[in-house]
Amino acid sequence: MEIINKSSKPGKLHSVVFDFDGTLSLIRKGWQEIMTPYFTEVLLDAPKAGTYEEEWICAREFIDILTGKQTIYQCMKLDEEVVIRGGISRDPLEYKNEYHRRLLEKIEYRRKGLGDGSIKPVEYLVPGSVGVIEMLIGYDVDIYLASGTDEEYVKQEVALLGLDKYFRSRIYGARDDYKLFSKAMVIKRIIKENKLHGSSLAGFGDGYVEIENIKEVGGLAIGVAANEETMAGIDEWKRTRLIKAGADVIIPDFTGLDDLEKYLFGEQHAI
Ligand SMILES: [Mg+2]
Repeated sequence: MEIINKSSKPGKLHSVVFDFDGTLSLIRKGWQEIMTPYFTEVLLDAPKAGTYEEEWICAREFIDILTGKQTIYQCMKLDEEVVIRGGISRDPLEYKNEYHRRLLEKIEYRRKGLGDGSIKPVEYLVPGSVGVIEMLIGYDVDIYLASGTDEEYVKQEVALLGLDKYFRSRIYGARDDYKLFSKAMVIKRIIKENKLHGSSLAGFGDGYVEIENIKEVGGLAIGVAANEETMAGIDEWKRTRLIKAGADVIIPDFTGLDDLEKYLFGEQHAI
């Protein structure tokens, strides 16, 4: 555990918001390797496209900055970039559907294996996920899940990983009408409904968006920089990005639970 912002001390925590993909779930790991080449391919089709390398860098950059928002925003940005390159504007939903078709093709075996029990949830959970959730519940903290992935899939994958019993109805994902959901909206709603100060809220995430959203309301932002390939240690690239987004603390995963518990709850005791 690495404390980046030493002045940001956790208050008495009431609620914690988790991002899903890359923070708890690894079912969709490798999604960037589907989205980046696909978007690069689309950009290269535009009349005034640059080289493969230039377009790949452009795609990777805006995909990264928008990570955590609903997928449609990455597709809307793609459409803008196509138009800039003299291409024809399309409904971003077409890009989203094609991306999702390609992604599901890659990950279907994981969803199937988890569903029929031939794959154990622990293989696709960020290490220590269940431990951190149970620790928070032990301190009577309300936990929420907010994801930019379509809600029906989030709910399915939460259940496939055995996390549905913890989050129950507090699961929010992208809706067809993308204006009806954002992580910022979920966070504001939690604060309003529970009459909280930002300091009683913390968030765990591996993307720009949730870190920024938590900081905007004065909450504590914990960046999860899991190395999704090796499932051990830190992903340096993610770490740098999360610090840039404003993360107060960086953890590689949830295996250093004692340190995290001490940091979050100090002398308090679990109930
Ligand atoms: Mg994520």
